Amino acid sequence: MNEKKVREAIYCMKSFADDTVCEECDNYDRCDHTMVADNARTAIEALEKQLPKEAVKRSLVKDNGIVVGPVGRCPCCNEIIDDTMTVCDCGQKIDWSE
Ligand SMILES: [Zn+2]
Repeated sequence: MNEKKVREAIYCMKSFADDTVCEECDNYDRCDHTMVADNARTAIEALEKQLPKEAVKRSLVKDNGIVVGPVGRCPCCNEIIDDTMTVCDCGQKIDWSE
């Protein structure tokens, strides 16, 4: 999901909400209006990231036997994250509670 796709999806969703006119969309000529389903999927994907998900493959980082803090991987993009990150770079909210 890239920024352009997200912008398209937002525009498309707005046309449902009457905020925007479908015919004024940059993609109007190219659009066969099946994009609505695609854009709905993009919107759902973005919304799902708003729901915190637990970090996966969690482990505790130790330094000389002292626990520094938990690390894990983002359930969405699989990046390594630590518990100072409540939102991954990919936009996924992270739940560090147990
Ligand atoms: Zn991520």
